[in-house]
Amino acid sequence: MAAGADAAARAAACDIPSLDRLLRDPAFEGLLGHYGQSRLTAALRARLGALRQAAREDRLRHDALAPAALAQDARRALEDSDRSRLRSVFNLTGTVLHTNLGRATLPDEALEPVLRALTTPVALEFDLGRGGRGDRDELVEDLVCELTGAEAATVVNNNAAAVLLMLNALANRREVIVSRGELVEIGGAFRIPDIMSRAGAKLVEVGTTNRTHPADYGNAIGARTAMLMKVHCSNYAIQGFTRSAEVDEVAAIARRHDLPVGVDLGSGTLVDPARWGLPHEPTVRDTIQAGADLVTFSGDKLLGGPQAGLIVGRADLISKIRRNPLKRALRVGKLTLAALEPVLALYRSPELLPERLAALRLMLRPQSAMQAQAGRLRPALEQALGPDWTVEDCAMSSQIGSGAMPVEALPSWGLRLRRGGKGGSGRALQQLAKRLRELDRPVIGRIHDDALWLDLRCLEEGDEAAFASQLEELRA
Ligand SMILES: *Cc1c(COP(=O)(O)O)cnc(C)c1O
Repeated sequence: MAAGADAAARAAACDIPSLDRLLRDPAFEGLLGHYGQSRLTAALRARLGALRQAAREDRLRHDALAPAALAQDARRALEDSDRSRLRSVFNLTGTVLHTNLGRATLPDEALEPVLRALTTPVALEFDLGRGGRGDRDELVEDLVCELTGAEAATVVNNNAAAVLLMLNALANRREVIVSRGELVEIGGAFRIPDIMSRAGAKLVEVGTTNRTHPADYGNAIGARTAMLMKVHCSNYAIQGFTRSAEVDEVAAIARRHDLPVGVDLGSGTLVDPARWGLPHEPTVRDTIQAGADLVTFSGDKLLGGPQAGLIVGRADLISKIRRNPLKRALRVGKLTLAALEPVLALYRSPELLPERLAALRLMLRPQSAMQAQAGRLRPALEQALGPDWTVEDCAMSSQIGSGAMPVEALPSWGLRLRRGGKGGSGRALQQLAKRLRELDRPVIGRIHDDALWLDLRCLEEGDEAAFASQLEELRA
């Protein structure tokens, strides 16, 4: 009897309605208005093709042919193809400034200016006082100078661009002296020697990997020397029998030869994080005070702003950099400047930064807050995953990321998921990680030590309900 009922429900290719008839059906009216005839036609044609194939394989059912069902299918397909590829995710990797997840999340203060810059004409390169052409750097230059003590500042696409531009403007066809211990590679193929050669500058290495003395710089200076450079060892640390020349020592030598000193500070913070109990980092102001003529740093690392590269320092050198044709190729757009200005403005009230600057707030989240959160989320996750998995809440350690303070770990708390039985756990973990990535807002964790780790540092309380509510989907 069941087989008979099934046969009755089965449909043949000749039962499939025509495209024209469907487009006239009231069930499609809303879709037609929203997506337009050509897109809806294409979506329907694809669906009808799939139904014909199902008919050939004798697995087409009558109920799939109802106009309401077909409209529902078309809506789902169209919504899927319209969904932005730049998906919001939950960053539970334990890395706060995760380059692959967009680094710093911006404070609310940046929203309104960005929205305005998107939707209205803005005075981007227009001097409203004189009524003539202006310079886009002027939008943030005074603020940057106020916060760093620099004479002048310019903004480009990212710090890699800032370093490239600085080297090309100051050292094209000439030599730049750098310590061997500072010839770093930053993730994503940024290597100081490569950038140097692309900028047209010749690298002169001094010292050894672990030890470079101030005199090493002095001994390497010759007729073709254009500048002395120091690079922040962002993502590694040399420990033990080490010596590196400080900025002030290198600057003293440079001054005797009338040469500039450039410092690639990498993360480039404007306030020493030690103020909040985080590891000490030299600020941009410290570096200028120590004698650097130019300092370059990122906008989206410790600074907590949009992707950008800032070059700050002596007015005559910045002016030379601005006149370099590469500056035009590497300049930032209005959206970046619209986001950067309000982030910089937050630094005028440093005592309020832990509250307002999203990136810093995450770095400073107390372990107890994450522990309480883990306690709240654990039962729901256990339920969703079923008896094959054990969910433990436990202490973890997160990192700041993007090469900031590589050796320092931030004590955090999270959930550790392990496969109950033995064997094949690697594969099962990969599959679980995949299921988490397939959620409506994908959850990105970290596989380590035969477990999937969900570090809760970057799941702020405001996002917790959204995270918890989609755990249901995991059960399916
Ligand atoms: C991160 C970093 C860079 C590259 O900066 P981007 O903003 O990612 O281009 C260059 N130098 C140092 C020392 C860095 O830490």
